[in-house]
Order: sequence, then C-alpha cells, then structure tokens
Amino acid sequence: MAIVQCRECAQGVSSFAPFCPRCGVPNPGGHGRHTERVEVVDVDMKIGTMMVFMVKWAIAAIPAVMLIAVLWAIGAGVLASLVAGG
Ligand SMILES: [Zn+2]
Repeated sequence: MAIVQCRECAQGVSSFAPFCPRCGVPNPGGHGRHTERVEVVDVDMKIGTMMVFMVKWAIAAIPAVMLIAVLWAIGAGVLASLVAGG
C-alpha cells in the first residue's frame, strides 16, 4: 500500500483508494481508464460464462422445480383442508 498524489487535487491518498477523500475523484491513483477497460472485458467474459452456467443450471434444476411444485401443491392442499375443517 503506497501513498500517491491524487491525479486531480494532488492530495496524498492511498494508491488503492477507490475515491480521493479530498475531491472525490474515482481512482485517484491515476489508473482509471486502464481499470475500466479491464472491467469491461471481465464483464463480457462473465456474461458468456454465466449463460453456459445458467443453461446447465436450468437443466439440472428441472427435477428440483418439479419436486418443489409437488410439495407446494401438497402443502397448499393441507392448508386448505385445515382452513375448511377449521
Ligand atoms: Zn483529489
């Protein structure tokens, strides 16, 4: 962790600080554009991975969803009989 000068106001801030405590500029360490580009690439990769993951998860979840639906229907039936008998 190093102390660097804010790229906007020259206040001494941590190189890892997300915002300058004096002027509020994001990433006062001065790597803003590079960091943004890396984040965009990272998000693109995550979306592609997430799509594959969601498809696999959806296929795997079908039996679980059916089981939950059956249990929910049974629970609703029990609740209805309790209310009707009540
Ligand atoms: Zn500043």
